[in-house]
Amino acid sequence: MRIEIVDNIELKVKKLNFNIVDSIEKILQYVPKEDVCSDFYIIVADLPVHKSIPGGSLGAYFGVRNKRGAHIELYFENIFPNSEDPDKFRDMFVILQLSLARTIFHEIGHHVQSIRTHGVTQKRSEEYADHYRDSLWSKFLCNNAQAVNDCFQHLEGIALSKGLRLDVINKMRSGWTRDWEKAKISLEPKPG
Ligand SMILES: [Zn+2]
Repeated sequence: MRIEIVDNIELKVKKLNFNIVDSIEKILQYVPKEDVCSDFYIIVADLPVHKSIPGGSLGAYFGVRNKRGAHIELYFENIFPNSEDPDKFRDMFVILQLSLARTIFHEIGHHVQSIRTHGVTQKRSEEYADHYRDSLWSKFLCNNAQAVNDCFQHLEGIALSKGLRLDVINKMRSGWTRDWEKAKISLEPKPG
């Protein structure tokens, strides 16, 4: 699958020493091959420019009838809000990457829905995309759990050494632990 990076972001990731193509490719390994056709592609843009897409969106799906063909756009500035500060970005990278994966899985869910179902409402379409995302998300979460836990440990260490309060990190961490527990349960073999 082709991955296009807009110039601004190409420069930015270079400065951050962040191989975003590699990250996206690792995430795409969780997507079944039959769910994306060979000409499907991904654009990494800075922010949404289309009037129909809310400014705070993390990503958007453009269907097969789009004149540029079926693709998704990922909005770097919304997915990685700390990217102005390379140190902060590096410290939080593993956690930030979770939202990159969630966004990719959700938007590909819209694609799968558009090729496998017909004429569903906007609300049903969001439900479908969320459901599809969750079906891939649990495995991604569990496979990256060690790295995420290490990342939280690292952030706590930084906060403690600087005498910063831990409540923001603790809140994020308890949200993460809840998601992780849920993911573990969903991957347990079901009886029958
Ligand atoms: Zn959506």
